[in-house]
Amino acid sequence: MRVLIVEDDELLAAGLVRALEAGGYAVDRVGDGAMADRVLSDTCHDLVVLDIGLPGMDGLQVLKRLRARGQSCAVLILTARDDVSDKVRGLDFGADDYLVKPFVLKEFEARVRALMRRSTSANSVQLRCGQLLFDTSAHRAWIGDIEIALTAREWSVLEYLLLHQGQVLSKEKILQSVCNWDENISPNAIEVYMSRLRTKLEPAGVSMRTIRGFGYLLEPVESLSALNT
Ligand code: CA
Repeated sequence: MRVLIVEDDELLAAGLVRALEAGGYAVDRVGDGAMADRVLSDTCHDLVVLDIGLPGMDGLQVLKRLRARGQSCAVLILTARDDVSDKVRGLDFGADDYLVKPFVLKEFEARVRALMRRSTSANSVQLRCGQLLFDTSAHRAWIGDIEIALTAREWSVLEYLLLHQGQVLSKEKILQSVCNWDENISPNAIEVYMSRLRTKLEPAGVSMRTIRGFGYLLEPVESLSALNT
């Protein structure tokens, strides 16, 4: 899951980035509204944490333009304590939730988790494929009764694949969802993660097919055998 933080307060932004990275999210950060608008026009983030009081274009304008482009990513706005009207306008413009500054990090993290759950369509945070059970909030995964160990990156790649089961995903798309700008990872690295995941998921009845020239397709093995009979 990939998050964009739009916040001009360096100290606050750094704290939010750290908290989200510790939670396993890929995080990008910008400090002004015009830049946020540009970034959002061509990158797909799952969640935008958007401060209202920004230099240049303010957060409400960024939000309005985002929704006008038909982008449905989750938006959490950050408002100053005394600005009730900003909060109301933010929700009117299509924000999903808001936090009033100052807030404690624990509350921020809880709001982010709730929004991510909502944006992953099901209310359940448990994803399944074949014998694999993947608990996004507990950050644990099992094949049958046996818990499996995944690195942070394997975790992010697998989560993305599970959320898009049955769809062919290009390396670039997978990369975009699991890495931030500072990480110089080549699309070929995805092949490495895929091969490790294939090994780890071997007993799970999960098929991770390579569709040459297009990308990868994750689906339970049962659905393949159903097709063949
Ligand atoms: Ca601000």
